[in-house]
Amino acid sequence: MKTPFVTKEQLEAIAAQYPTPFHLYDERGIRENARRLQAAFAWNPGFREYFAVKATPTPAILKLLREEGCGCDCSSLTELLMAERCGVTGEWIMFSSNGTTAEEYRLADRLGAVINLDDLTMVDFLESSIGRLPEKICCRYNPGGTFTLGETREGFQVMDNPGEAKYGMTRGQIAEAFRRLAAKGVKEFGLHAFLASNTLSNDYYPSLARILFRLAAELKEETGCRVTFLNLSGGIGVPYEPDQPDSDIAAIGQGVRQAYEEILVPAGLGDAALYTELGRYMLAPYGHLVTRAVHAKHIYKEYIGVDACACNLMRPAMYGSYHHITVMGKENAPLDHKYDVVGSLCENNDKFAIDRMLPEIETGDLLVIHDTGAHGHAMGYNYNGKLRSAELLLKEDGSVELIRRGETVEDYFRTLAW
Ligand SMILES: *Cc1c(COP(=O)(O)O)cnc(C)c1O
Repeated sequence: MKTPFVTKEQLEAIAAQYPTPFHLYDERGIRENARRLQAAFAWNPGFREYFAVKATPTPAILKLLREEGCGCDCSSLTELLMAERCGVTGEWIMFSSNGTTAEEYRLADRLGAVINLDDLTMVDFLESSIGRLPEKICCRYNPGGTFTLGETREGFQVMDNPGEAKYGMTRGQIAEAFRRLAAKGVKEFGLHAFLASNTLSNDYYPSLARILFRLAAELKEETGCRVTFLNLSGGIGVPYEPDQPDSDIAAIGQGVRQAYEEILVPAGLGDAALYTELGRYMLAPYGHLVTRAVHAKHIYKEYIGVDACACNLMRPAMYGSYHHITVMGKENAPLDHKYDVVGSLCENNDKFAIDRMLPEIETGDLLVIHDTGAHGHAMGYNYNGKLRSAELLLKEDGSVELIRRGETVEDYFRTLAW
């Protein structure tokens, strides 16, 4: 059972001031969750979460997370500028990019960000871009093949294909990168890997940690380079479906700790800091896409047309993702109607739900689409001339703040050459 973080009365009051559709974020939920993450890794003195800015690139959110001790994980020029605008600079920025331009490296360097190299060729490219190399640098590892956790305690089969992913360096290239960087004066090394996305298994981070910890120990022997930080990246998932179990962040932290004590400590690397670059886990459950039912259509199926569309939330159209829907005020009504809940794009994949059992929906009902706080507004676009919606923050004191206004028609025409 998924419960919205607002009541129907609250939402009607908000919608009277800000027209639907809009994205609404829950300050309390974001803060409490960030504190749970910090507590789970408090055993590691250098621990830091660098929030993956791409998930929710909105200054009010980045500032709130900064107050909870999180930095920014950026991967492009504008994401770096966004971090700077929020007062996040220096070692509070991790620059985990790929296909990077010289201009991006120059800005990352000017801001003092920790730079994470995606490829061996980037050693020379970074040096030529900024005229030297930083003393502290990270390299992204791709072990290739497939990554499986097997049948986990929770009954999930986690599997991903690093061998098909464009990111990171091979095992041989990582050693070569370390040697070249050391020869050019780099003193502190980090390792990064991202092997599976949206994993609900509590074993993902501990398994990834084992791979990176062993690699750090091996590279110390092979190259003499000292790894001072390990970046477990993103990938911890959230239960989009109501019957899925939530990730247990305390158990995840303990699992990583066990790997740390078994592998890193005996290798003489027991002072290494752990970093994460979580996006989805930090924000997805604490955002709702709020939309109103505006049409009902009865042809071969029952359709409910809403005033949001895939331009506001692309995940269902792009990945067929499930997002739970609550019809506000009908939380306890029987789920006795089967609907396709659709937007107005001239694209038949513009469906928030297909054959979903819901209470009877009437025109004017407010719908909450759940778990849209990450990769929601961020993946918005303007197809069919749709304008991107406003973003609102429900503050801890119950008030609502407009943290990004909706686009206007003038915004839409602004980039035209005539
Ligand atoms: C997307 C991304 C993340 C965040 O991933 P989530 O699945 O949202 O946790 C972290 N690091 C990098 C490099 C990414 O590309």
